[in-house]
Amino acid sequence: MAEEKLPTRAQDFSEWYNQLVLKAQLADYAPVRGCMIVRPYGWALWENIQQALDRRFKATGHQNVAFPLLIPRSFIDKEKHHVEGFSPELAVVTVGGGEELAEPLVIRPTSETIIGHMWSKWIQSYRDLPVLMNQWNSVVRWELRTKLFLRTLEFYWQEGHTAHATREEAEAETLQMLDIYADFAVNDAAIPVIPGRKSEAEKFAGAHTTYAIEAMMGDGKALQAGTSHFLGQNFAEAFEVKYLDQNGQLQHCWTTSWGLSTRMIGAIIMVHGDDQGLVLPLDAARKLRAEIVKAGIRVTLDEREGQSPGWKFNDWEMRGVPLRVELGPKDVAKQAAVLARRDRPGREGKISAPLADLPATIERLLAEIQQALHDKALAFRKANTHDADTYGDLKKAVESGFAYSRWCGSVGCEAKIKEETRATMRCIPLEQEGGSGNCVYCGQPATARAIFARAY
Ligand SMILES: [Zn+2]
Repeated sequence: MAEEKLPTRAQDFSEWYNQLVLKAQLADYAPVRGCMIVRPYGWALWENIQQALDRRFKATGHQNVAFPLLIPRSFIDKEKHHVEGFSPELAVVTVGGGEELAEPLVIRPTSETIIGHMWSKWIQSYRDLPVLMNQWNSVVRWELRTKLFLRTLEFYWQEGHTAHATREEAEAETLQMLDIYADFAVNDAAIPVIPGRKSEAEKFAGAHTTYAIEAMMGDGKALQAGTSHFLGQNFAEAFEVKYLDQNGQLQHCWTTSWGLSTRMIGAIIMVHGDDQGLVLPLDAARKLRAEIVKAGIRVTLDEREGQSPGWKFNDWEMRGVPLRVELGPKDVAKQAAVLARRDRPGREGKISAPLADLPATIERLLAEIQQALHDKALAFRKANTHDADTYGDLKKAVESGFAYSRWCGSVGCEAKIKEETRATMRCIPLEQEGGSGNCVYCGQPATARAIFARAY
């Protein structure tokens, strides 16, 4: 398996990615076009992501729930922007048990509608608020162009849904969850991200405001890695989610929703992977580290017979294991092991460590590797992000990375830039730098600076 070389990233980034996902046995193509099968190694990565996020969700007061897969078609029609946005992507069930259904059912593309419907029954008074829920599930969106992990018909994610008494509280929740995603991306996945607001054209169908974390992949393209939506009162009005306030007045709730999906696995591969294969951040090694701390050393012992050490090294490199412990008869005689860092291939990354201090040495090296992965990705993003003040500069910048440009706020300029360069506005960063100036497209005074890039 590992003997067959991957194409290099420089040769063909897209094919490097596809082959790596298959060869590292993360996922495979399903019999239905556009669906994926997540294999045990890929699912273990997802479980690590789930644990890291679920911990943060619960620490901020959210509870997990499970809503059904099937939603009455009429629910989707109740919020006008939602139906416009999702209709082309819906999978619809029209027959059940051999009988034509009186009302078609959609397989959930997301659950705002069915949750709004239930909230209208459950929420009566300000005392019932806030409602803070999350569910881990899969959803279906009938995508035409698919790629393993990044865009598939069915994908796994979490969707958080909250209802609040005031606008301020709902807006604070939206930004809190954006912060949680950014914290997870940076500290667990070692992926530097830009938190920002989406333009009207790019926001979620039915949202008042959409925020996202955007990351640069190894080929300079952008990937939206998590989104948090302030839904205003749009869904509360469509589903009559109301409460009696402290003065006995009936009010509509303010709601939010937020999601992060198995795309994050694609992001980890595309940000950290190299020509030898996968490079995993500490998140994936968290369990191993915890076990080392608790119970001395626990390692995966590669006992496969008939394979040379070199073959085994390549195999583990392909699978992205952050630290490899090599222990041969000579090492045992010296009471030492050789530790090989995945992020520094070759001799440079090899260290001899006494067996007596191995847990402490491994602990220290894993922390160093995590920081090094993040810093390398951040340096790459900085080197491929250009302050583009003219339209010519923007066009050039998006050929290989991000353009950070001023924009007048017009939907027209945004649409023209997309049409002419294939770069979309990824986000308007929450942290604005560089002062005032003029729109990169029309020359009128700018209202903000935004990131433009070609995206997955
Ligand atoms: Zn303009």
